[in-house]
Amino acid sequence: MSYAIPPSISRANIANENSNGQNVLIVVFDAWSALNISLYGYNHPTTPNLERLAAKAIVYHNHFAGGHFTTPGTASLLTGTTAWTHRAFKHNEIVNASTENNIFNVFNRYHRLAYTHNPLADTLLRQFLLDIEEHTPWPDQYFQKDPLNFTLFKKDQDIASLGWRRGMKRLEAGHAYTLFLSQIYENFINNKVADIAPNFPRGIPNYSELGLNYFTLEQGIDWLSSSLSTAPQPFLGYYHFLPPHDPYNTRQDFMDTFVGENYQLSNKPIHLLDQGIAEDRMIDRHRWYDEFILYVDAEFARLYHQLEQNGMLENTWLILTSDHGEMFERGILGHVAPVFHQPISHLPLMIFPPDQKQRVDIFDKTNAIDILPTALQITEQGIPDWAEGIILPPFGSSTSRVDRDISTIQVERRDSNGRIAEATAMLVRGDYKMMWYFGYEQLEEDTEFVEMYDLARDPEELHNLFSIQKLVADEMLGTLRANIDELNSVYRQ
Ligand SMILES: [Zn+2]
Repeated sequence: MSYAIPPSISRANIANENSNGQNVLIVVFDAWSALNISLYGYNHPTTPNLERLAAKAIVYHNHFAGGHFTTPGTASLLTGTTAWTHRAFKHNEIVNASTENNIFNVFNRYHRLAYTHNPLADTLLRQFLLDIEEHTPWPDQYFQKDPLNFTLFKKDQDIASLGWRRGMKRLEAGHAYTLFLSQIYENFINNKVADIAPNFPRGIPNYSELGLNYFTLEQGIDWLSSSLSTAPQPFLGYYHFLPPHDPYNTRQDFMDTFVGENYQLSNKPIHLLDQGIAEDRMIDRHRWYDEFILYVDAEFARLYHQLEQNGMLENTWLILTSDHGEMFERGILGHVAPVFHQPISHLPLMIFPPDQKQRVDIFDKTNAIDILPTALQITEQGIPDWAEGIILPPFGSSTSRVDRDISTIQVERRDSNGRIAEATAMLVRGDYKMMWYFGYEQLEEDTEFVEMYDLARDPEELHNLFSIQKLVADEMLGTLRANIDELNSVYRQ
């Protein structure tokens, strides 16, 4: 495919390589758009701590997500492959590639630890369990560590969580399938979290899909620090926390920080996949999201200082990023619609090398799939042939920093013959970004819709150039069509 690895990157056989013995710690905060981060120029000061810590970091300014929500975005990060290859598109899908093609497997000389608050990401981690020495199940860092379902239905957590949700949680209609159990359970949990509730006037942080699954970032960060202080070294750690994912329940000290600041209605056109969200709700949520990012920023800084104080940073590469962004425009709220506008695609990425003394800013386009080869490179290990990303600057040779395509796809539906019937494909080439939509019921039958923007001159993605820059547009669409044909041939097998 056209987005394949540049041939200039040397590929070694990883099996017999040694490493430099340094640890790698990847910290992911879920649904964190670079567009809401003041380190990257956002006009509300959401990340004062990151701005300070950046003095000893490599700051990536044009980092792209692997997908528009947790499953494809996390799969790209963990496998070093694009969605075209890993094909984890739907909620709770696993990756299609060999289960050995993942970041834990290639760190096979390391002690490997993994945890995520997010059950969708945990589905992926569980696919790689053979390669993880310490996998902590997602309920472990919630206040109700092991609800009945996970004890009784260890081998089928999907069924268990569905049963639990229907039986014990009050659903959209305001009641559960059981008459009293849900109320008793609600009281039990509320008693359990009564002490911390005053710290979170908007509600204690939780995973909205399952309700009542309360956690705090403070607890997660403290647990992470103490887990690492006793972990065998060298280690590879993957820790994926839910904030600033919705609901945006920030801590009391950050609540209403941005009240009175200028939050305006978006001037962007309503999208064909819009959710009909009222604009005033969009403005409120946007501010709440920013105030939740303050919490992430403060807690990440606390983690940084804990690791600094216990000496861990002297021998650890700390990588900070996200799995996808969040959107407050075009009638779309959050990250549920299969679109790849910059609020969804543009992510934070910072690398804190062990002995870094100064800030380095990188403006090259980078991608979630680059983290796997880069983590191998900085620990002096070989990179497997199946990895599709590049070694990030400044670690790769300059020849690897070619202006390569960045591409992803979200498949929503396939027809009875296995062909892709409804999807959004994205391609970034040079300054241009294309999003191609087809098969959606909002479109007339057999029609498609294409957006194409010049990200350098039109970062807000307001001027669709598809019918203006015909030559480039045809080439880019041709690439995406060819990639779809190839994916269709895979699916038909
Ligand atoms: Zn996510």
